[in-house]
Amino acid sequence: MPIPPKTLRYLKKLKASADPAEIAARLSPREGAPAALMTLPKPSAAAIARVWKRMLKAGVPQTAQGQLADDRTVAEAETYTGNIENMIGTVKVPVGVVGPLRINGVFAHGDFFVPLATTEAALVASYARGARAVGKSGGVSVATLGEGVLRTPAFRFASIAEAGLFVDWVVTASADLIAAAEATTRHGRLLGIDPVIDGEIVFLMCRYETGDAAGQNMVTFATEALCAHALKASPVQPRSWFLEANFSGDKKASFLGTMLGRGRRITAQVDMPDDVVEGVLGASVEDILEYGRIANLGALMTGQVGAQAHFANGLAALYLATGQDVACVAESAVGFTRMEQSETGLLVTVTLPNLILGTVGGGTSLPSQSAGLDVLGLKGSGKAPALAEVAAALCLCGELSLTAAVAGGQFGSAHKRLARETKA
Ligand code: NAP
Repeated sequence: MPIPPKTLRYLKKLKASADPAEIAARLSPREGAPAALMTLPKPSAAAIARVWKRMLKAGVPQTAQGQLADDRTVAEAETYTGNIENMIGTVKVPVGVVGPLRINGVFAHGDFFVPLATTEAALVASYARGARAVGKSGGVSVATLGEGVLRTPAFRFASIAEAGLFVDWVVTASADLIAAAEATTRHGRLLGIDPVIDGEIVFLMCRYETGDAAGQNMVTFATEALCAHALKASPVQPRSWFLEANFSGDKKASFLGTMLGRGRRITAQVDMPDDVVEGVLGASVEDILEYGRIANLGALMTGQVGAQAHFANGLAALYLATGQDVACVAESAVGFTRMEQSETGLLVTVTLPNLILGTVGGGTSLPSQSAGLDVLGLKGSGKAPALAEVAAALCLCGELSLTAAVAGGQFGSAHKRLARETKA
């Protein structure tokens, strides 16, 4: 492969500005390892002070300590047990609100204030504008289409024949394997085990319902028990095996998740009258559809997984505000946006096949994160299906607003006004 011109230019500049031997020395491995911090799994005032003492000694400025380890955070440190190691404080992220967002869903039914934690100007304003337009159109209709969190262990056997024998055994022993997995959880249910064979390697796609939890820990512990049973009872033994084989789509956009769904699969739709589109969103249906066609071509030409404008913006802000694992945005923010002319205006549909989120477990019970769920009225058991429908409805608002902003020529000016001019 030829060296890209930019790389060549950079290398030339580097050579001209410094002695090559000096650069080589700078990039070489160094003798002796720095004394690493011991992992401190239990946050407490004393543990926080201990880590700061070490960092201050190394030159980290005291002002950083003041910002991160404020009095309230230090006093509440133990609340964060089970959520963080080597705790040194908390980051304050501003929280805005969108709404009331009218949702006519199977599980979420009502007018919701949606908290969004972000440092990105124009994000809240844009979703709020979408919610205003949706409210004037009767609300978003939302339906949950499916649920299932995957864990996918892999087993390598001596031969294709042994892999086949193992799969044959898994099919006959599936009731025992399911019982072993489900013994680890009160709320998780193993819906099925689907084997996938590649030569002498077998992947087992284990798909679970996880109650109101996002479920990644739950499916990990359950699948570990399933594997332990398989290793004890199977007549053929693998040469090696791994609890997760990078097959489930955990924290990655994948075609598997997009087609089969991972987490909750939700679809949301609104039919927006012409006058609302023009009056609230400031663009014509025609312009929005023209832009949508070109944006879909862009998605196709660049090989995007799915085709949508910016699910990640709303999801990341909602996830931060409600104690979700924000890294799951990598898979959750995949899906499809479809816009069409309807009899009265603009029909907008979004489908998100991979919403990984929960209303119990993970970070959902932390002080400000659980307050975020309280704002929505969706804290605790029985509320995760509604939270998923809120997330999809929120994404629809964002798709509408951003698409209209680009189509109506407001995209640059809105960011300039909200990000730059308000600062001046
Ligand atoms: P979790 O906090 O580990 O577990 C949820 C807990 O809530 C379980 O003890 C469950 O009991 C209990 N629970 C009470 N009421 C429930 C209800 N109505 N529905 C469901 N559970 C209920 O959370 P998780 O969702 O399993 O895991 C999420 C965390 O895993 C996130 O913090 C994420 O960052 C992390 N994570 C882990 C992995 C991994 O592979 N281990 C990977 C990525 C992320 P039962 O178990 O008895 O049902």
